[in-house]
Amino acid sequence: AKLLRLDKYLSDMNIGSRSEIKIWIRKGRVCINSVPCKKPEEKVEINKDEVCFDGKIIKYEKYIYLMLNKPAGFVSATKDKKDKTVIDLISDIPHKDLFPVGRLDKDTEGLLLITNHGELAHQLLSPKKKIDKVYYARIEGRVTTDDVEAFLSGISIGEEKPCLPAKLNILVSGDISEIELTICEGKFHQVKRMFEAVGKKVIYLKRISMADLPLDPNLAPGEYRRLTDGEIEHLK
Ligand code: URA
Repeated sequence: AKLLRLDKYLSDMNIGSRSEIKIWIRKGRVCINSVPCKKPEEKVEINKDEVCFDGKIIKYEKYIYLMLNKPAGFVSATKDKKDKTVIDLISDIPHKDLFPVGRLDKDTEGLLLITNHGELAHQLLSPKKKIDKVYYARIEGRVTTDDVEAFLSGISIGEEKPCLPAKLNILVSGDISEIELTICEGKFHQVKRMFEAVGKKVIYLKRISMADLPLDPNLAPGEYRRLTDGEIEHLK
């Protein structure tokens, strides 16, 4: 059985700071199995003892997995001096240590996984795993079948090696084109640089899928939901 100090249990669930929590416990706002407990050092057994704060049951969850529809204007980081971060969008999820799995540019929208599970994040980001990411983009200029072929044969973006073959699907070809692009790498500004390499400019970018997990169409920008057990299993 896993035992944890009461104050640690509550701070892991992001109820407050460790020092605030100690004060609240001493004030009698916390119960274990319906009995008020004023000792921060009291041990609780995870998933057996019922811990309440102000009458609300606080479940202990080790790992959290969220799907966020990232809005433009937020940076993919946990902290930032000047910008709002994607983690600032997450409220009411009782956990500290959440971080984004990889990065979308500040102006990019769409699917971003948020978790506190380092190992899973590491797997999803490992270049060796070649996890597919699908992007929808609007492009200034006419995207052509020449571009499709160039992307398939490996675009050079000024790095030592060209990009791996990428599947470009033209949805609309015009003065402003619309495309879907599947890449299995995660180089810095990769999609924008790939189009730059064929003389075109990305004017809107949104990730619509990662690791065969599509962005939930019910999520408006800025909204998120927990992954289902099936989705979590699929990612592992
Ligand atoms: N490629 C980019 O250029 N930007 C992103 O945010 C993601 C992929």
